[in-house]
Amino acid sequence: MQIEIKNLTKTYAGGFKALDQVNLSITNGMFGLLGPNGAGKSTLMRILVTLMQASEGEVLIDGRDIGKYRKEIRKMVGYLPQDFRFFAKLKSWEFLDYAARLGGMSSRKERRERVDEMLESVGLFEFRNRMANKLSGGMKRRLGIAQALIAHPSIIIVDEPTTGLDPEERIRFRNLLSDLGRSETIIILSTHIVGDISSTCNQMALLNEGSLIYQGTPDKLVELAKGHVWRSEVTPVQYEQLKEEVPIISTIPSGGGWEIQFVGEKPSYIDAIPVEPNLEHAYVHYMDNKLAHWNL
Ligand code: ADP
Repeated sequence: MQIEIKNLTKTYAGGFKALDQVNLSITNGMFGLLGPNGAGKSTLMRILVTLMQASEGEVLIDGRDIGKYRKEIRKMVGYLPQDFRFFAKLKSWEFLDYAARLGGMSSRKERRERVDEMLESVGLFEFRNRMANKLSGGMKRRLGIAQALIAHPSIIIVDEPTTGLDPEERIRFRNLLSDLGRSETIIILSTHIVGDISSTCNQMALLNEGSLIYQGTPDKLVELAKGHVWRSEVTPVQYEQLKEEVPIISTIPSGGGWEIQFVGEKPSYIDAIPVEPNLEHAYVHYMDNKLAHWNL
């Protein structure tokens, strides 16, 4: 499978550009779309699942323009939107059965088996008879994931999937997705949480203010941050000055001052030693300085 996004621009009513000339190529495997809130991720996802039209540019799936093959594309895609809601009063299993029917699974027997299989894999089998809207927040999220996966989609798109999940559920969810990542499937994971990407995605892109600022492997991004991450012991006075100049990513009290890590160029007025970067460091390195005081 191949998704080609070409010169994609989305201008909302009022003239706000949520996406600006985005070019992106996505192949089989797990693809992570990372960016802060407001970057344009949901807008891009909604265009990909044909719920919204781009203002300019095109999206081709295996060479076919999604605007011309909406029906076919919708059958191929499993989508978990950020604000997923249950719109019907159904039991959990009935809800999944309904989703399977929408996804084109016409055999009742096949659907029943698949529903049970999905309930098992998201850990909801014992809650199959509970009304979907009576499940806890985390369970609803898992049922949302199950409905996205049920009809064997070849493209899976999940928007901010780990929102509202506790740490254990997060890990379970990441594992569930990476199990799927082996076959002829594209999985697109949109998130503002760096940890969602690092453990699972072989390809990624960084989106900021509607523009793509990186596309490649997570490892390559980390590599590019080498020489830009530092550890230093600073006095309170140095700290006050430094925090105006560079993103400080960790602060631990030490002696009368602070042991800190920061990203960027080392100012001459302090001593610092280079630190081996990780994906979070690399993310900060690539983002605007206005993210400097983000709490990672
Ligand atoms: P993300 O998913 O990365 O948080 P979104 O795609 O939801 O980003 O939003 C990108 C930008 O577009 C934000 O500034 C948001 O306020 C704006 N936006 C989103 N939807 C609309 C809309 N329907 N009309 C106008 N602006 C919108």
